[in-house]
Amino acid sequence: MNIYKRLGVKEMINAADSYTIIGGSLMPNEVIEAMSEAARAFVSIEELHDAVGKRLAELTRNEAAMVTGGAAAAMAIAAAACMAGADGELAGKLPCAEAGRNEILLYSCQNNGFVQAVRLTGAKVIELEDRTPDSDRQLREAITGRTACLLYFVSTQFERYAPPLGDVISICRERGVPVIVDAAAQLPPVSNLWAYTEMGVDLVIFSGGKTLRGPQNTGLVVGREDLIAACRAHSSPRSSVGRPMKVSKESLVGLLAAVERYVGLDQEELSRQYEFAVETICAHARRLGLRAERLYPGPTGQSYPRAALYPDPSCGYTAESLQAELKSGDPMIWVGLSEDKAAILVNPLHLQDREIALVCDRLARLVG
Ligand SMILES: *Cc1c(COP(=O)(O)O)cnc(C)c1O
Repeated sequence: MNIYKRLGVKEMINAADSYTIIGGSLMPNEVIEAMSEAARAFVSIEELHDAVGKRLAELTRNEAAMVTGGAAAAMAIAAAACMAGADGELAGKLPCAEAGRNEILLYSCQNNGFVQAVRLTGAKVIELEDRTPDSDRQLREAITGRTACLLYFVSTQFERYAPPLGDVISICRERGVPVIVDAAAQLPPVSNLWAYTEMGVDLVIFSGGKTLRGPQNTGLVVGREDLIAACRAHSSPRSSVGRPMKVSKESLVGLLAAVERYVGLDQEELSRQYEFAVETICAHARRLGLRAERLYPGPTGQSYPRAALYPDPSCGYTAESLQAELKSGDPMIWVGLSEDKAAILVNPLHLQDREIALVCDRLARLVG
């Protein structure tokens, strides 16, 4: 009996996304083996951070990189780095940064639940008005001696009303204000690992437990060497705001193994696998009498397709009730729902080959 059965916890098929509430992603064998190997000896965590960071920087074509305890932890640590730099004494003062650079700029339309992470450092979030014809001037005026950085979310969901990233970077550059980009789920394309830093972003954050398929509680920060050094000053094992966001030796090597694997994957083959899953499910749904279409791009603009299946009244389900029915079966199947609630959305990112058939079978039993 496997661990989940022994605990009486149901397993599920993830046809939805890399959601934290269902475990993020599954670690490939290379990652599990690296973690298990790391678990067998003591090492200096600082030395391991140095070595893993150096290798991650090479793999992602960046000046520097580090592993954090999740992308949200990376947001807190990157904010602290921009507020206090690598100064140990200042680092010890956070999160009570009454003086100094304690303000983080953010476009209004980009405010979301994850922003809470940067407030852990004591920073104040200053909201900027969304894109107007006067955005450049407004940003220049909003920057003061208290500005620590600007936080920007690259995702179709949060980017649509904000000024373009390129414009924001050039103004912030002019004023010496670092730009932090949250790209937690923005893979594929794999080139995003270096594309934002090439554009001039100072620090870019990815989740280790989403598309990269590393340990669920890891994050990856890439970017400027001095700022990554500052991030380290605000991280465990040092006494700092980041100390509660410890990264274990197992997680450090686990994320490295995941990134090594991800950048080495045949991206065209991966993309053919996603297309195959989507095509198979669409064709099957059409045979069952449902309207089905391929959606592109991914949920926040990533370069992969999804399947949208539209139940019509004759099949006895609305999209919402079909989603609920799939979730209540055994194994549970998690699918998404379109914004207008007309379609269920099948995401191929974490769907394994044998699971495609299971999803098709269940659909046939329900609407066939
Ligand atoms: C998932 C996500 C995070 C948090 O990532 P974790 O690795 O789970 O901490 C932060 N920002 C965005 C935009 C995300 O999608």
